[in-house]
Amino acid sequence: MALATYDLGIIGGGPAGYVAAIRATQLGGRVLLVERESIGGTCLNRGCIPTKTLLESGQLFRQVAKAAEFGIALPGTASVDFPAVMARKQAVVQRLVQSVTDLLLAHRVEIVSGEASLLSPQRLLVRSNDGATLEIQCRNVLLATGSDCADPALPGCDGEGVLDSRAVLSLQRLPESMVVIGASVVGMELASIFNLLGTRVTVLGRRSFLQAVDQQLARRARALFARRGMKIETGLELRGIERLENGMMRVGYTMAGREHFADGSVVLIATGRRPLTDGLGLAEAGIATERGFVRTDRFMRTSVPGVFAAGDVTGGAMLAHVAAHEGAAAAENALGGARALDYSLVPNCVFTYPEIASVGLDEASAKAQGADIAVSRFPFSANGRALTMGEEEGLVRMVYEKGSGRILGVHIMGPHASELIAEGQVAIRSGLTVSDLAELMHQHPTLSEAIMEAAQAATFGEAIHYRHV
Ligand code: FAD
Repeated sequence: MALATYDLGIIGGGPAGYVAAIRATQLGGRVLLVERESIGGTCLNRGCIPTKTLLESGQLFRQVAKAAEFGIALPGTASVDFPAVMARKQAVVQRLVQSVTDLLLAHRVEIVSGEASLLSPQRLLVRSNDGATLEIQCRNVLLATGSDCADPALPGCDGEGVLDSRAVLSLQRLPESMVVIGASVVGMELASIFNLLGTRVTVLGRRSFLQAVDQQLARRARALFARRGMKIETGLELRGIERLENGMMRVGYTMAGREHFADGSVVLIATGRRPLTDGLGLAEAGIATERGFVRTDRFMRTSVPGVFAAGDVTGGAMLAHVAAHEGAAAAENALGGARALDYSLVPNCVFTYPEIASVGLDEASAKAQGADIAVSRFPFSANGRALTMGEEEGLVRMVYEKGSGRILGVHIMGPHASELIAEGQVAIRSGLTVSDLAELMHQHPTLSEAIMEAAQAATFGEAIHYRHV
């Protein structure tokens, strides 16, 4: 047993925890970080980074298939070497985990590999992975334990051949076919990856398709994914999963009162996340929770003074950039600051192919707030750069206030939508109007001109390079 005093003791080394650790040391704090698995958490090890690495392989495979169209002759037919795809994914993950670990050490963050729980609001019990037990005194504690895949409580969901988003990232062989249960962001990103790599994909969603996305774009995306060979069914009731004699997996569901089945070599469950709080000692420490998630205010303070929480464990948007900002704010506040989080402009990206990204209000929520709005559009099929790339699917939709022209929301489906959305975010944050963006010279030929042209469509009644007929 050892005792030491830290300004901040952090449980969990994902984006919330490790960013908090760095920020706290920047402010002069002495910081201990306890991580039981791997630095980087879900994001680096089994979320954002591995999925986007696989997506790049899938997109490259699709690009190679179009090589002849681009005037490039290849000696044979391209194929997917799945073990090599997974090895590259793992190499990228390991490189990032190592560089974040090095960064933490360079900031003199003390890292313990092990599991922590609260003995009291200012004392942590740490069982290190090498068997030692430590009691650690901290002036402040940050709970950044994240989330894990939720159990859908579906008969047969724990059998062989049923994977969650963690297990699917360790597959050894590319499945010939896959049934994805869940038509929201994680489900659709993984469906898109495997569809690109050549797996026959069926998506089953209980509710609507990509609920978190502007529904006009979601409808277009759904049609596009269907054209690319995905079968997508939503508005259904799942019955259960069984393994057939031939080794195939079968998912039973009812839709419009009729019974249906979807078969696949594997079933992927992507139906949501649960907070990781088991054994943390929250109840004993008097920390309030809501539906299992740790309750915080906008300063990331929990119900107990000196204990902060950030990231997925608080049950907010469950995005890495949200977790990182919450972690940084929690660190600042633990060390005497008073930074409140502003959630009004959280960018939301769906890394499918093509990508979908949005920020601010969509048409429905703007109307629900009583705003008098209009929506302008510009398609990538009329954007020079998109055509050079052979990526003309998708469009920009801009929601703005009639009269003032103030931009309220930007929604993009198309190439590099997740990069382009930053312009919308800055525009809304700066209170820009559609005419401000319409008059701002954008570099040519670029995808960002589609944003300018959507603003021009709103300002001039019509874009320069597109005529609505
Ligand atoms: P986590 O990253 O989950 O980290 C929590 C850490 O705490 C874990 O490492 C865990 O081992 C550790 N821990 C838990 N309990 C203890 C304990 N008692 N003691 C010690 N350590 C403990 N978000 C995006 O913004 N963009 C994306 O593209 C994206 N893609 C995703 C793809 C998938 C498949 C998934 C599942 C998620 C994705 N996310 C994405 C979400 C993103 O990964 C999470 O929002 C983010 O990782 C949350 O960060 P966190 O620090 O709160 O928690």
